[in-house]
Amino acid sequence: MTDSLDKLIKLLFPEDLPTPADWEKKYPPRQLADGAMVTRVAPSPTGFVHFGGLYASLISERLAHQSGGIFILRIEDTDKKREVAGTAELFAAALQQYGIISDEGLKIDGQEKGAYGPYTQSARRDIYRSYIKELIQQGKAYPCFASPVELENLRARQEAQGERSGYYGHFATWRDKSPEEALVALESGLSAVIRLKSPGNFQNKIIVEDLLIGRREMPENDQDIIIMKADGLPTYHFAHAIDDHLMGTTHVVRGNEWFPSLPLHLQLFAILDWQAPFYAHLAPIQKLDAGNKRKLSKRKDQEANLEYYQSAGYPEEAIIEYLLNLANSNFEDWRRANPASDNRDFPLSFKKLANSSGPLFDLNKLNDISKEIIARLSANELYKRTLNWAQKYDKDLALRLSTDQDYAKKILNIEREGVIKPRKDIGRFAEVKQEIEYFYDEGFRMPAELKAEALADLQGVDSNLLINDFLQTYEDTDEPEIWFAKLKTLAAKYGLAASMSEYKADPTKYHGQVGSAAKLIRILLTGRTQTPNLCLIMQVMGKDRILKRLKV
Ligand code: GLU
Repeated sequence: MTDSLDKLIKLLFPEDLPTPADWEKKYPPRQLADGAMVTRVAPSPTGFVHFGGLYASLISERLAHQSGGIFILRIEDTDKKREVAGTAELFAAALQQYGIISDEGLKIDGQEKGAYGPYTQSARRDIYRSYIKELIQQGKAYPCFASPVELENLRARQEAQGERSGYYGHFATWRDKSPEEALVALESGLSAVIRLKSPGNFQNKIIVEDLLIGRREMPENDQDIIIMKADGLPTYHFAHAIDDHLMGTTHVVRGNEWFPSLPLHLQLFAILDWQAPFYAHLAPIQKLDAGNKRKLSKRKDQEANLEYYQSAGYPEEAIIEYLLNLANSNFEDWRRANPASDNRDFPLSFKKLANSSGPLFDLNKLNDISKEIIARLSANELYKRTLNWAQKYDKDLALRLSTDQDYAKKILNIEREGVIKPRKDIGRFAEVKQEIEYFYDEGFRMPAELKAEALADLQGVDSNLLINDFLQTYEDTDEPEIWFAKLKTLAAKYGLAASMSEYKADPTKYHGQVGSAAKLIRILLTGRTQTPNLCLIMQVMGKDRILKRLKV
């Protein structure tokens, strides 16, 4: 090394840095069983948790754990300008909430776990700088002093000449400057970034292999990308290579917006003389927009933000099962065959992921899955989870639920525990409100037109008499069959047919049919035309409330 280069490096890296060999010793290769995968999710904390981020995390975690491996949460916060405070913890909290278990990395309390940390890139500054320093010593990287104005002029010139834009080849003016020239620039107070001296030739084609996309021919990278910014922190591209190497990542599963960067990433691994991990670039979740498929967009779609599902009150396992279903289309069959199994037991497959050209987001499907899951909850679980949700998102509902817990649980248990076909009309905790509203006097509404319609259906029957008679015979211990048998007897007395078909056979013979009597009672009690079983509703409402509402 020349004296000038030595001096330049000392100026650029005045601190006492360990050597790359020291880091390699500190983070030895992991001792894992054959086939065990080490995966990671590496969000940049720049705002909310993207639905696609949860999708990639879930896939990475399941692949790791099903192979006996390790799943890491790494925070890629090297771009300090774009960082939004608190969002790294938000991501950790989201993983925990949705049961995606990270073995290493950031925890919700802001601490970290694992022996390969720190797992937050801004805390790994020394590590990156050691490697960058070595690359400069080896002539594989160099300081560049091009100002923003010079770079802008270069871009304009390239555009005017129809050339590819960027800092490469003969456009990379600092690439071949001597250490002496760099020293002059540095000593004159100019700030330096460090660029990779790319050995690539854009005319050369390389074959890249992606586990999901397959084999593709791509041009070699020839861009002298910035690997260290003026603030002394590395760029994402460089940091990810160092981290995935030192953390022993075997499989990088990430969004396919990173696929075009693959030649660069492979080149970085080659320059550092490391074996690159396997890459699996996921097709993004798509959405139908005016008949066209497009990527779920952070800016346009509220469904892109995980918070949307939380505020809407989807149970976490519904989201997870929906995402598993998007990842592997055979999940549904598996779930049908294993209704009681933990969804962790579903073997996630890379092969099946590869068949997907970007799964289509379908809210109806999510709602169906969610209804099935809520139908499987006990009344007590549904109560607790709805209350938990409501405490954050619907204070009125929370108050209603907690005022008389027993009553609320009885309402929630209608057509639930111990029945062969539990009710499936609740898709989100937010919908519990509308399902229980009429059980409470302050939530009960009686639309006048419904009542009028029900009365009109009972052509000429004295509905007051009918209701009074009904109340005489009503016992709150009656099972639904008895309840209905009693209503039928009463119907006959008032000239109502015992069924719709009987009525239709000869309408002139009847004043209507038994269903119309049930409809009137239903509307008077609930203000609705559709409800769960009326007898069960009445048992829960209790005599006082029934009497109050049935006085017509
Ligand atoms: N920090 C990158 C992102 O947020 C991660 C890319 C990668 O997984 O390599 O998209």
